[in-house]
Amino acid sequence: MPPIFVLICGAGPAGLTAALELVRRGVSVRLIDRRSGPFLASRGKGIQPRTLEIFDDLGVLDHVLAAGGRYPPQMIHADDGSITEEGIHRAPPTEAEPYGEPWMVVQYRTEQALMDRLAAFGCHVEWVTELDAVEHGESVNASLRSAAGTESVSCTYLLGADGGRSTIRHHVGIGFPGKTLGVLGLGRVGGAVAKVGAQFGMKVITWSPHMTPERAAEGGATAVSKEELLSQSDVLTIHMVLSPKTRGLLGADELALMKPSSLLVNTSRGPLVDEAALVSALTSRRIALAALDVFDTEPLPADHPLRSLENVLGTPHIGYVADDLYRIFYGDTVKAVDAWLVERAKG
Ligand SMILES: Cc1cc2nc3c(=O)[nH]c(=O)nc-3n(C[C@H](O)[C@H](O)[C@H](O)COP(=O)(O)OP(=O)(O)OC[C@H]3O[C@@H](n4cnc5c(N)ncnc54)[C@H](O)[C@@H]3O)c2cc1C
Repeated sequence: MPPIFVLICGAGPAGLTAALELVRRGVSVRLIDRRSGPFLASRGKGIQPRTLEIFDDLGVLDHVLAAGGRYPPQMIHADDGSITEEGIHRAPPTEAEPYGEPWMVVQYRTEQALMDRLAAFGCHVEWVTELDAVEHGESVNASLRSAAGTESVSCTYLLGADGGRSTIRHHVGIGFPGKTLGVLGLGRVGGAVAKVGAQFGMKVITWSPHMTPERAAEGGATAVSKEELLSQSDVLTIHMVLSPKTRGLLGADELALMKPSSLLVNTSRGPLVDEAALVSALTSRRIALAALDVFDTEPLPADHPLRSLENVLGTPHIGYVADDLYRIFYGDTVKAVDAWLVERAKG
């Protein structure tokens, strides 16, 4: 069995709470976060009554109550300019619901309370430690990057508490709902891909040099600028015709705008993307993954760097593999050979 039972990635409220729940039950835990230290701000206004119950159970409630206070009344501004005051709903405590109101407390104080309690169990956050790759089978192997270098860690469970843009969810391929699909070129193929994305619950955006909001809407997408397409897409898929104007459409500057967690899909033509810039973006993890069916030189040379990058899924230009297309290709080939035989027989 791997030496670590649970590796928790992310020391926000979710990761800290999970770690505390596990260590108090004697489970061996390693808790990492890529930040340089504790979060010093607050995205949350306060703690809901049910969470206060959990904090009570975890032994951090007193600390959290002391760090915060009751919510002030809300000021409601109406269209007519009038202002009214409305208090937060407060219910009397009952046995079933012992905390009848939320508690206003700044997020970093909550996180500090959880960290202090964790320290009492000998568990400390390992800061500046980033998980950047995961493989899973019988156990999980995670690659961690820190100031000390890269470390490969084996654990029984990996708990992804790494926030909204989760690297782990990305690596294990969990779901598209809520992700943004960027379609570069909304023609016949791009339009069909946009429909597939929408079926998977993705938000579909598109750009091409002559795109209009109306044409995009007809294809079930939203027209955006090129910069927005690059910076907002979780999956960017290219469906453009190669021409002198579109050659190198995505170069180093464009790839630099993409999310580090993004996936680039190119099934159109290799030279639409500057291949050297793409290799560099993938090597430096400027973008997370590329799925490529097309290359500058095909077949891709045996010693090409794209062949050895683990964040590339490469296929040998097989995007056209479909029964109907094969019927056309092979039918045309047989016709061409027949015609050649006829011409040769004529001498
Ligand atoms: C505008 C806004 C308002 C909100 N208001 C409230 C509110 O009033 N009340 C409330 O309860 N909640 C509120 N929330 C939600 C709450 O702040 C968040 O849900 C909470 O921070 C989520 O906690 P988390 O632990 O899941 O993720 P995060 O706090 O995002 O923590 C994730 C951690 O994972 C780390 N990480 C990410 N990737 C890696 C990696 N590859 N390797 C190592 N570490 C990694 C990050 O550095 C981060 O520290 C609000 C959120 C927003 C955005």
